[in-house]
Amino acid sequence: MSKINKFVPSEINTNQLWQNILDELKVTVSDATFKTFFAKSNLVSFKNNIATIGCTNQYFCEQTEIRYYSLLKDVLDRQTKKNVSLVFNVTPNSKFQIPNSQGIGPLFEIKAPQKAPVKKPFDPTTGLHPRYTLETFVVGNSNNFAHAAALGIIKKPGSEYNPFFVWGGVGIGKTHLIQAIGHEILKTHPEFEVLYCEAETFGNELVAALQKKTMPQFKKKFRSLDVFLVDDVQFIAGKEYIQDEFFHTFNKLHLGEKQIVLTSDRRPEDLAGMEERLVSRFAGGLTVDIQLPDFEMRLAIVKQKCQEKNGRMTEEAIQFLAQTIESNVRDLEGNLTQILSRAAGEEVDLEFVQNFFGIKEKTARKKVSPRKIISEVGKHFRLKHKELVGPRRIAKIALARQIAMYFLRRELGLPLTQVADILGRKDHTTIIHGVDKISRQFSTNLNLRRDVLAIRGKIYS
Ligand code: ADP
Ligand code: MG
Repeated sequence: MSKINKFVPSEINTNQLWQNILDELKVTVSDATFKTFFAKSNLVSFKNNIATIGCTNQYFCEQTEIRYYSLLKDVLDRQTKKNVSLVFNVTPNSKFQIPNSQGIGPLFEIKAPQKAPVKKPFDPTTGLHPRYTLETFVVGNSNNFAHAAALGIIKKPGSEYNPFFVWGGVGIGKTHLIQAIGHEILKTHPEFEVLYCEAETFGNELVAALQKKTMPQFKKKFRSLDVFLVDDVQFIAGKEYIQDEFFHTFNKLHLGEKQIVLTSDRRPEDLAGMEERLVSRFAGGLTVDIQLPDFEMRLAIVKQKCQEKNGRMTEEAIQFLAQTIESNVRDLEGNLTQILSRAAGEEVDLEFVQNFFGIKEKTARKKVSPRKIISEVGKHFRLKHKELVGPRRIAKIALARQIAMYFLRRELGLPLTQVADILGRKDHTTIIHGVDKISRQFSTNLNLRRDVLAIRGKIYS
């Protein structure tokens, strides 16, 4: 009897507790944040003041932990009147228990890597995640300046580039880089107070401190830091009260020669709704941007991530993936995770990746031959077959050749070596560069786009 009594209420309590937390979060965070990070999570257990939060995949575990640890802890502490620690685990939001390994059970879109580390060394006091280190940060054309500046800061925090302002689009490594700065500084200065914090979290904590009348603690926490890493500072644009508090925090730290690192999705002067005094402070140190990675860098990133995830891929498969996903590193990694998950430990070859992107099916449907492609490209540019596959490199022929490469690879999914053969090239890296160039310029170069679209129309007519 007593056993049942104990068991049943505790189960109800977990559900009820999570519901209360969700109700509170719904009115605290934006709708998009709520849907992305909380709606699909659940409270798996609450024992000995440890709350285990289940997220649908590894990526969400990490991101929820990094972004919302303190917010969740705050709400949990309040709801339970306890000092709660949080653990994040991959647990798809289902009422059914999943068999605990070996891939039996439902197929989820992204599974945690098979040999995912079991330990949870995320440090809530610094907000630093062990995954985002300098060793795992790939450096290339698009980020070498930001990386070099980061090294300078790591060497002499607070003195050289202060603040350090990193901006760029989504998924290109801003969070990774500033977290890595935090880790490195702690290696040489273990006594330093380092804090990584989303600007949104700063805002949420400020609101909570005002409600709970704990402003002195809030000020102490942020104004006594040695290194303040603020992610996605664009969040506070248009939020006057938060900006005001942020301004004072910034000044206190800056005057004390404490290192401040900021990231944003745009440059300081483009932050509409940000007070002028903050914009000028943000721009008062070193501002650098990170661009989308080029092909070489994407290649290096796929290799790096594949290794991190204990995956096995052939060189051609890696090249194909790096070539297909041009948007950003996050997308590249997301696709890689899915591919490795589907491969379930087997080595991934080119065909596997092509099938993953549905390229084979497309080809089968359209039944286009390489000969047709070469012939249409030749006609469009008024070039003979001999010229297209010959040695001459004048601009017009080179462009036609690159467009042919693009179609042979993208539309037919032919292996690099075969494309090289068809076009009389010896080196298949020429093909990679050619296809890369056409894909990149497709969206920005109007003439090129016209050529490609006209040829495509003929090929499939
Ligand atoms: P952002 O903050 O710019 O939106 P993130 O730092 O969150 O992007 O990066 C998205 C994902 O891509 C992360 O998993 C990160 O580890 C990875 N990533 C981005 N840039 C690099 C890089 N240069 N080297 C290795 N991984 C990277
Ligand atoms: Mg980020």
